[in-house]
Amino acid sequence: MGCGAKAPTRCHELRSGHLFQRQRERDLWGLDMLSTELGLRPPSQATIACKICDSASSLYGVVDLHRPCEFPGGARPPLSGVPVYYRRCPHCSFLFTDAFDDWKHDQFKAHIYNDGYQALDPEGLARPRNNAEIVANLWAPFKTGMRVLDFGTGDDALASVLRANGFKEAMACDAMAPDLASPQGKFDLVTCFETLEHLPDPAASVAKIIEYVAEPGAVLYSTLTLPEDFDRQGMSWWFVGPRSGNISIFSKEALSLAWARHGYRTVSFNPGTHIAFRTLPKAWGLTALQS
Ligand SMILES: [Zn+2]
Repeated sequence: MGCGAKAPTRCHELRSGHLFQRQRERDLWGLDMLSTELGLRPPSQATIACKICDSASSLYGVVDLHRPCEFPGGARPPLSGVPVYYRRCPHCSFLFTDAFDDWKHDQFKAHIYNDGYQALDPEGLARPRNNAEIVANLWAPFKTGMRVLDFGTGDDALASVLRANGFKEAMACDAMAPDLASPQGKFDLVTCFETLEHLPDPAASVAKIIEYVAEPGAVLYSTLTLPEDFDRQGMSWWFVGPRSGNISIFSKEALSLAWARHGYRTVSFNPGTHIAFRTLPKAWGLTALQS
């Protein structure tokens, strides 16, 4: 006998606890929502144009919608049953999905950037301050004359640290809702940390960023590029995580092409951190990057 008459109270408690846990999982992960209910674009065997270079791109691999990049504390989210197919461009190797191409800003907020998202990235809240301190240190000699725009979540966290550090001007705008904020004029430096991989149309955002960059000027940005052994790792590579919002993953070639379309060069400090520019201000002493 399992939950028999001898222990009805205890059984009820267990069931209530179980139900509570299930409800919590539903709240956090959006269980029971199928692909069509979520408004995801259905996959197709037909090729579609690479979002960076327009080359015909076939399906490459698939992961569950609830797969995050990391599993804090080892906790694995329940599978959603909703497949997210990615494509890989045969020319520039860009890895991307069109599943979210019909989503609006509020759908990303509801299903990806919700309370469950923050739980998967507990260190995320400290990241803007850390990035701001890097920028503040690198550009310290020039800060009193610099305008900086943080093109990212729209959160003022990074910009406020720069202002507190004595930068002439620093402000933020939202990459997923660029029309909400309308920064005026050009900026000596535009920062864009861990943003491009989250955008369904990153090429459009590169074009938007460039509208804000002074000449001379630069874009300091981060997005992790595909590793050398990606063909071996395939979709098992940790960075392929739709639950973490990673839906547009660049190769080094794709990054170069995305900026080159606008006459920009991009130089990588490491696989995740890069600087893009047409002409760098001579005073910054980074002219070696232009050679
Ligand atoms: Zn391509």
